[in-house]
Amino acid sequence: MGTARAAHLFGAQRFPSPRASSPRSAHERVIFGMSKTNGKDAGGPETGKNRETASQGDVEHKSKGKTTDKKAKKDAQKARADDHPPSSAAWARAVDAGMGTAPSLSPHRQPAVPRAAPGIVTVEPGTRFTLASVDPDATGGLEKAGAKAALAGVRERIKALQERLYAEHARSLLVVFQAIDTGGKDGTIRSVLEGVNPQGCRVWSFKVPSAEELDQDFLWRYHARAPGRGLIGVFNRSHYEDVLVVRVKGLVPEETWRERYGLINDFERLLTLSGTTILKFFLHISKDEQRERLEARLEDPEKHWKFDPADLTERKSWDAYRTAFDDALSRCSTPYAPWHVVPANRKWARNLMVARTIADTLEAMDPHFPPPREGIEGLKVPD
Ligand code: AMP
Ligand code: MG
Repeated sequence: MGTARAAHLFGAQRFPSPRASSPRSAHERVIFGMSKTNGKDAGGPETGKNRETASQGDVEHKSKGKTTDKKAKKDAQKARADDHPPSSAAWARAVDAGMGTAPSLSPHRQPAVPRAAPGIVTVEPGTRFTLASVDPDATGGLEKAGAKAALAGVRERIKALQERLYAEHARSLLVVFQAIDTGGKDGTIRSVLEGVNPQGCRVWSFKVPSAEELDQDFLWRYHARAPGRGLIGVFNRSHYEDVLVVRVKGLVPEETWRERYGLINDFERLLTLSGTTILKFFLHISKDEQRERLEARLEDPEKHWKFDPADLTERKSWDAYRTAFDDALSRCSTPYAPWHVVPANRKWARNLMVARTIADTLEAMDPHFPPPREGIEGLKVPD
């Protein structure tokens, strides 16, 4: 990687590669608009329809004609393969291939796409993904003892970086949480954002749309709540509900929810182009774990308020939700806004994995305090 920026994008500063000083890679040229495809929309995010047939092979094939230096690209892939665990290496290749479809941005507006923390599975853009391939009990090699202390340290990193993001007032971070009922969205938000300056953070929980919201296009209410410059925005449920619960319950005709995958990709691309880095977490629990959590809500008086009888009805549609999640994660994982699947049966591991990924992303965004106003040296505050 030839620049600090590119190093940030792939976390090379944390995983030094033996090829760190290799010449500019094909990937870097694509990112910085030096490739032949620069300025062209090489298809943009695929629509639900054409993604249906997309595969890893398709993506790699597409990229071949668009880079001038195959050897440099191979070297770049090898360099990352050297220092990535297998699933991340595959994902990094997909990012390489898919970056050609990302919008052309000037470097300071590049989305920060660092690797997720160990234990998280990132859905490779353009591939068919299934949740059945991820063990919800996985801990990413973490141990419970020590995880709490580590979490406190990561929260401090988030806090310090948030202050810079807020002061810089140029870009924003949108963190999206999706999960089945009891999946742990509320608990993760509470734990990971503890200590963050509330003034620089907006958390939105999306419920059944109001009559006013239903009179608008489906993205209206989400777009209105996208984080402004300097802010961290958190979506507790999100625009993905419109291809999840809406699909499972048949609230709109199939042709309507089917075209939403492409519209969601376009929406996220618009946000990215506008300076928002998007982090999407799917909290992955097992059906047994959901039963235990629902039982705990029924048994513990202090948790009664969390119990919603509708959750029992929804549980009957477990398989339909899994299919809807598999489709949404496959069709809407893009190089600029990939989906991260977090094994979430163990809350302590889940919290640390999510916190680390948020901290790494903020670090990759590399926010800076703005320069001081001109002429303030030597100024004295009058009595
Ligand atoms: P909770 O998050 O448990 O408070 O529940 C919120 C409820 O709102 C869930 O049952 C969601 O499925 C539902 N919901 C959220 N967004 C939508 C949407 N766009 N259309 C229909 N239902 C939704
Ligand atoms: Mg609920």
